[in-house]
Amino acid sequence: DTVINRIAAGEVVERPASAVKELVENALDAGATRIEVTVSHGGKTLIRVTDDGCGIPGPDLPLALSRHATSKIDGSDLLDIRSFGFRGEALPSLGAVGRLTITSRTPGAEAHAISCTGGALGPVKPAALTSGTVVELRELFYATPARLKFLRSDRAETQAITEVVKRLAMAEPFVGFTLRDETSGEPRVTFRADAQSGDLFDALAGRLATVLGRDFAENAVRLDAEREGVHLTGYAALPTYSRGSSVAQFLFVNGRPVQDKVLIGALRGAYADYLSRDRYPAAVLFLDVDPQRVDVNVHPAKSEVRFREPGVARGLIVTGIRHALADAGH
Ligand code: ADP
Ligand code: MG
Repeated sequence: DTVINRIAAGEVVERPASAVKELVENALDAGATRIEVTVSHGGKTLIRVTDDGCGIPGPDLPLALSRHATSKIDGSDLLDIRSFGFRGEALPSLGAVGRLTITSRTPGAEAHAISCTGGALGPVKPAALTSGTVVELRELFYATPARLKFLRSDRAETQAITEVVKRLAMAEPFVGFTLRDETSGEPRVTFRADAQSGDLFDALAGRLATVLGRDFAENAVRLDAEREGVHLTGYAALPTYSRGSSVAQFLFVNGRPVQDKVLIGALRGAYADYLSRDRYPAAVLFLDVDPQRVDVNVHPAKSEVRFREPGVARGLIVTGIRHALADAGH
């Protein structure tokens, strides 16, 4: 059973950045307005995610660490998914491949903590915490040396973690994010995005300036289009702000970061008249659609989606961006 759990865990947690993604998504699902991530050695020795969300009641801590236990779905309709999590796999997987400690406090109750090491669950103990949740993961993959060997350098893993945090920060402009590196013993802030306010476009523009630079934010056109019940919002950069790689492409479906061939192809298609093959448009695209019309449950770790009618989303992106660029005189 432990072996099966570890194999399953490896599916969800491929590298430190996937652990960070799961933990930050949990914090967002908990309604956090401030999320702090601290890592050491590219997340290999330490990942700590602190949030000011709703917390987990002490008696529920063992449940949060048991496989397929989730508080986010009632079992009646698997497709109606609006929160990030819904499989109840992340925490048990992390507890199977590292030394995991969760400390949490719900309003009006005392704080409690639980630890899980290599899949072995400890008792719930009283703890000290003012509010929210702290999840600490040490020595990731210590129990699976084969997996440990496949990790890349601290620098490369840190880079992947930074990308994950930036992507989620882009998705949630009203939430404040801080990323720290504690490898040297002294925490050092490596990325900070203060919580934005105002309407969604103001907030997005502010967050864009933080994540991609003021230059991009000031040279992007606003997207706001709809087709057959699919909504497109966001910003697309003028062709002159293209990049040599896809690092400045942020795609979200119902608020969830996705990497999807159809959508990425549509983005490229929108700029086909402006850019050569080796240039990548910079854009932040939010597609919102009735969850019944899109399947986000394709793979637990790879953020793929499957639209019931892919042509609608594709057409919306191509024409939405072309019209916005044309309106801006391009
Ligand atoms: P899922 O997110 O798919 O529900 P997880 O294993 O990631 O599964 O988390 C299990 C459960 O633990 C969640 O459903 C939630 O109830 C609780 N939980 C996890 N992280 C947090 C957090 N940061 N704040 C509040 N509750 C949390
Ligand atoms: Mg989760």
